[in-house]
Amino acid sequence: MVTLTVAVDAPQHTGLTAPLDYISECTLPAGTLVNVPLGKRSVPGIVWDREPAPASELALRTITEALDALPPLSATWRALVDFAAAYYQRSTGEIALSVLPPELRKLDNARLAQRIKKLHKALASNVAGPSSGAAATPARTAEQAEALRQIEAMAAQRTPTPLLLHGVTGSGKTEVYLGAAEQVLQANRQALVLVPEINLTPQLEARFAERFAGRHIVSLHSALTPAQRLRHWLAAHLGLADLVLGTRLAVFASMPRLGLIVVDEEHDPSYKQQDGARYSARDLAVYRARLERAVVVLGSATPALETWQRANEGRYQRLALPARIGGGALPRVRLIDMNQQPKSRGGAAALSPPLIDALQQRIARGEQSLVFLNRRGYAPVLHCGDCGWKSGCPNCSAWRVFHKLDRTLRCHHCGLTERVPRACPDCGNLDIAPIGRGTERLEEQLGELLRTPDDRPARIARIDADSTRLKGALQAQLGAVHAGEVDVLVGTQMVTKGHDFRRITLVAAVNPDGALFSSDFRAPERLFSLLMQAGGRAGRDAQHAASSEMWVQTWHPQHALYDALRRHDYEAFARSQLKEREMAGLPPYSHLAILRADARTPEAARTFLQAASALAASLPGAEQVTIYAPVPLGIARVANVERMQMLVESASRGALQRFLADWLPALHELRRQQREERILRWAIDVDPLVI
Ligand code: ADP
Ligand code: ZN
Ligand code: ZN
Repeated sequence: MVTLTVAVDAPQHTGLTAPLDYISECTLPAGTLVNVPLGKRSVPGIVWDREPAPASELALRTITEALDALPPLSATWRALVDFAAAYYQRSTGEIALSVLPPELRKLDNARLAQRIKKLHKALASNVAGPSSGAAATPARTAEQAEALRQIEAMAAQRTPTPLLLHGVTGSGKTEVYLGAAEQVLQANRQALVLVPEINLTPQLEARFAERFAGRHIVSLHSALTPAQRLRHWLAAHLGLADLVLGTRLAVFASMPRLGLIVVDEEHDPSYKQQDGARYSARDLAVYRARLERAVVVLGSATPALETWQRANEGRYQRLALPARIGGGALPRVRLIDMNQQPKSRGGAAALSPPLIDALQQRIARGEQSLVFLNRRGYAPVLHCGDCGWKSGCPNCSAWRVFHKLDRTLRCHHCGLTERVPRACPDCGNLDIAPIGRGTERLEEQLGELLRTPDDRPARIARIDADSTRLKGALQAQLGAVHAGEVDVLVGTQMVTKGHDFRRITLVAAVNPDGALFSSDFRAPERLFSLLMQAGGRAGRDAQHAASSEMWVQTWHPQHALYDALRRHDYEAFARSQLKEREMAGLPPYSHLAILRADARTPEAARTFLQAASALAASLPGAEQVTIYAPVPLGIARVANVERMQMLVESASRGALQRFLADWLPALHELRRQQREERILRWAIDVDPLVI
């Protein structure tokens, strides 16, 4: 009999954060998947490498089953999980088990052995061997070649420095990823490529598959079927897959020969998990690369300011691709001052006359345009002019959005959907009207305004979360754009990401000002990168690049953000933002965490947070952190849950970490005492992205 520690899947609220001790008939290597009893249930666990507590074996329970057909998860994988659990204040077992394919826990040892055997067999018969029929590598530009030289040099280092590949849109970053992958594959190691959006994986997968014909490439993201996800994960874990492409969850893919991690669009907010263990896949990728002595390449046209600052400090090494492939110019940015535009009834028109003219000209020349508005639906609110009724959501502190196509009022926060009332529910007035506009209305307005040279209505397409709900819809719509069957594409930020549109020569942002005055200090950074990325969709064909334009309708044309955008000057924007952050003591010059509480009433949430704050004062190291007063979230009530949060700040990351680790058990205890206070949930978010 031996005593082993096991990381078990105990939910956060149980407060069981560390691995638990069990006894086993024989010793099992750390990293072995097991089933163990926990309370009245049997739960999956992983043998962990901690010293068991010096307790009597009699008190311990026995491991039920060892799933040792699966080779153990490696020491570096366990170290990554340990780090993520400690850093994001979650339990080791919760993270370890939640990042494995769910299907894995349904198998017993015999069935697992069978699956593995089948996978080996399938691959043996499938793989033709590397490089048969692979697409040729294009002649690389001098900048691409230099970047690849530096990546290769870094790979030879014992502890490679993380690399930041800073390249404007269309500068050929993907070709650098491909070249870097080629290098590690030749060295018989595996490559992991992370992308922010599932929608972008098929496109990238095709590009990698074309280049690396004969190599085994798998994807890992949440849209796979459970069986696919298990198969792909196993292929990575067994070292059978050379390349793993995936979204943020793939940062935890088990890969025994990992040599390279690429994080494409590293600034993208979707790398941060927004519930459960709120980890940043980008930051974990950097940590993991160090553990594995692998090279990590963070790529972006507009790096996150945290990343940029690390490059400034020399902690990351910068690689630059300053020019577009083929010498194409970046689109000329034109700011339309909406103060100068004629006012229509009920305020300014959504589309200024010069923009309509410009769109009309592109149609006449057979070119495409992209009109971008980050708000879906027809109108954000319906309104009765007689009594002042508005289409509020009964469950949330938010308006319900009018969707004209199916004549519904939908809450984008809790999902409540109802038919649009015929008349004002309060006074019976028949004349209730939409206020403001979303993509649906924009599509309708453009359809009414724009004509082809032979005087037919222009062909307008819309891409947003509504128009792409059905499987395959997005690919079909993108296909129509690529085939030239669309004159003007309307969309939310969904269309700004990554797509390589060749015929678009005009990109217009209709109403982007909102973020300039947001209470979230990261809003300008997000807006700048969104607009740079949207602009990057124009003129990707070098032939048309010279005439490509980005139009921005704004009420604040003097704003420094738009000035930097006009000059495509990320560096100036970053410099001014970093200076503001430094003066305000905001990240990256300080470190933040949020304690959030959800409750039935705002008072209950506030009471919990205030009690948590009082507890914090007595902890060691409390003088190194500042805890701010509880405030409601921007949208305080969602689905009848009141949401409050409290910001915790420290000049030292280490001090914040130590403080949070001491605070966490106190919070669990507080929650137990306050059961009657009707706190529904609480959570800590370390390095929160949305304030
Ligand atoms: P980014 O990822 O930086 O936006 P991409 O890697 O998508 O840029 O490259 C933009 C376009 O240029 C793509 O169509 C790509 O195939 C092409 N391209 C990249 N590198 C080269 C090269 N060395 N020679 C010719 N075309 C290239
Ligand atoms: Zn009314
Ligand atoms: Zn709602």
